[in-house]
Amino acid sequence: MTDATDRSPAPRLSFGGAWSYDPAPEASDWVDRRDRRGLFIAGAFTAPAGGVWFDSLNPATGAPLAAVAQADASDVDRAVAAARAAAPGWRALPGEHRARYLFRIARLLQERARELAILESLDGGKPIRESRDVDLPLVAAHFFHHAGWADKLELAFPGRAVEPYGVVGQVIPWNFPLLMAAWKLAPALCCGNTVVLKPAETSSLTALALCEILQQAELPPGVVNVVTGDGRVGAALVRHPDVDKVAFTGSTEVGKEIQRAVAGTGKGLTLELGGKAAHLVFEDAALDSAVEGVVRGIFFNQGHVCCAGSRLLLQESIAEPFLAALRRRVERIRVGDPLDKNTDMGAIHSAAQLARIEELVADARAHGAEVWQPDCALPGDGNWFPPTVVTRLGHVDRLMREEVFGPVLAVATFRHPDEAVDKANDTAYGLSAGIWTDKGSRILDLAGRIRAGVVWNNTFNRFDPGAAFGGMRESGFGREGGRAGLSAYVRSAGGLAAP
Ligand code: NAP
Ligand code: MG
Repeated sequence: MTDATDRSPAPRLSFGGAWSYDPAPEASDWVDRRDRRGLFIAGAFTAPAGGVWFDSLNPATGAPLAAVAQADASDVDRAVAAARAAAPGWRALPGEHRARYLFRIARLLQERARELAILESLDGGKPIRESRDVDLPLVAAHFFHHAGWADKLELAFPGRAVEPYGVVGQVIPWNFPLLMAAWKLAPALCCGNTVVLKPAETSSLTALALCEILQQAELPPGVVNVVTGDGRVGAALVRHPDVDKVAFTGSTEVGKEIQRAVAGTGKGLTLELGGKAAHLVFEDAALDSAVEGVVRGIFFNQGHVCCAGSRLLLQESIAEPFLAALRRRVERIRVGDPLDKNTDMGAIHSAAQLARIEELVADARAHGAEVWQPDCALPGDGNWFPPTVVTRLGHVDRLMREEVFGPVLAVATFRHPDEAVDKANDTAYGLSAGIWTDKGSRILDLAGRIRAGVVWNNTFNRFDPGAAFGGMRESGFGREGGRAGLSAYVRSAGGLAAP
C-alpha cells in the first residue's frame, strides 16, 4: 500500500472535480459553478473513460447544479482494481490506526457540516433544518461510532476468528445520500475492507464532497473509490468478479435482481430494501405526542424514507378526534424552499418520483378514497407535492400495499389489539413499525408480534449508530449500525460465510 505520506498534500476545502483544486468556493457559489465532478479512483478525481457527463439537478428549481461523470464498465474495473490493490495494506493496519482515520473523517465532516448540509439540500430537495440537524450529525456520529469499534473487533465477535471480506461493492439510494454513504462506508472500513461505492444517479454530489474529505484525512488511495452514473454502473459493480461482498440499499425490485445476480458466486450480500410501515395509535396514547409522531413518521424528508410510517392504524374510538387534530397540525406544515430555515417540507426529489406519487394518489381517488390536502401554495418551478392524508381505503388498495416514498399517509382503523397486529402484518414488507400507547405491557406484547426489523414505541424515525437497523421479509436482510451491523462486513476466517 502507498504510504499516505508519499502523496502530495491533500487539497484543502476544494471541490474542483476532475481537473482543478481551486480554493474552496463559498457554498453559495456551488450553484453558479458548472464544474465537472469526476470519478474518485485510487485517491484522485478522474474523468470517465467514455467522456460522458450528466447534470445533477436542483429538485426545488429544476436548475442544473453540476456535471457528474457517467462511469462505464472499464471505470468500474479501474475502481475495483484500485480497491483490490489497497486491500492487503488496509487490512493489515492495526485496528487503532484504522480508528484514527475514521475519527479524522468524522472530525472533518463536523468541520464542513454547514457546507455539506447546504449541498445535500440543494441536490436532494430536503429542508436545510433536516440536513443540518439530522443528516449531518448522524453522518459524523456514524464515523465516530465505528472509530470506536475498529480496535475492539475481537469484543464484537468473542471467540470467533473473523476477517474482512476484502473488496466490498456498495450501492445506495437518493433519499439520504450522505447518510447512506456513511452507513455503508464506516462499518466496512472499520472491519478492514476496501470499498467501491455507487451513489444514486440523482444525488452524487455529497458523496463526491466526502471524497475530498477522505483526501484531507489522507486515507490511503484506493481504500474508498466512488463511481457515479446510472443503474448500469451499479449492475456492473455487483456483478464484478473481483468484488467479494455486495451491500445494497434501494428498492425491493432492484434488490431481488441483485440477489439473483449474486446467487452462486460466493459473494457476501446484505440488502436494505423498501417498507410500508404500520403506525399504530391506541386510545390510551398521549394524543398530542402521537400526532407529532405521526407527522414526523410520514412527512420527514418528504416521505422519502424507507421506514416511513406510511400506514396509520387508529383505534376506532379515537379515529375522528385524532384525524381532526392531525389535519390541524398538517395545515401548519410549511412546504417550500429547502434552504429556508423555516421550511418543514422541501421538494420531491425527482420528476420521476413526483409522477409516481401523483399516480398512486390519483389511483386511490379513482377507487373512492378520500384524499385530503391542506390549502398550501406550492412553488411554481421544481417538483412539489403537498402533505396528503388518505382515508376510506380498503386493505387491497394500492396505497395500503405499495411503497409511495412520498408525503402520503394512508389511514385505516382497528378495534382490538389483535386486529391491529393482523393489519400491521398484512404487508410483504417488514422494515419498521410504531406503537403509541400508555401501556408498557402492550408495547412488549405487540412489539414481539409485529413482523418488522425496527419497532419504535412512543416515538418514530429515531436513529442512532449504536442501534441495529434493517428489515425482514421483502425489506431485506442484514443490519446496519451497532454490533449487528459489523457482522455484515466480516466473514469467518478462511473465507467461510459470515458468522
Ligand atoms: P433503486 O432504484 O433501487 O436504486 C438504488 C440504487 O441502485 C441506485 O444507486 C440505483 O442507481 C442503483 N441501481 C439501479 N438499478 C440497478 C441494478 N440493476 N443493479 C445495481 N444497482 C442498480 O432505489 P431508489 O429509487 O434509488 O431508492 C428508493 C428505494 O430505496 C425505496 O424503495 C426505499 O424504500 C429504499 N430504501 C431503503 C432503505 C433501507 O435502509 N432499507 C433506505 C433508503 C431507501 P440509479 O440512481 O441510477 O437508479
Ligand atoms: Mg439532484
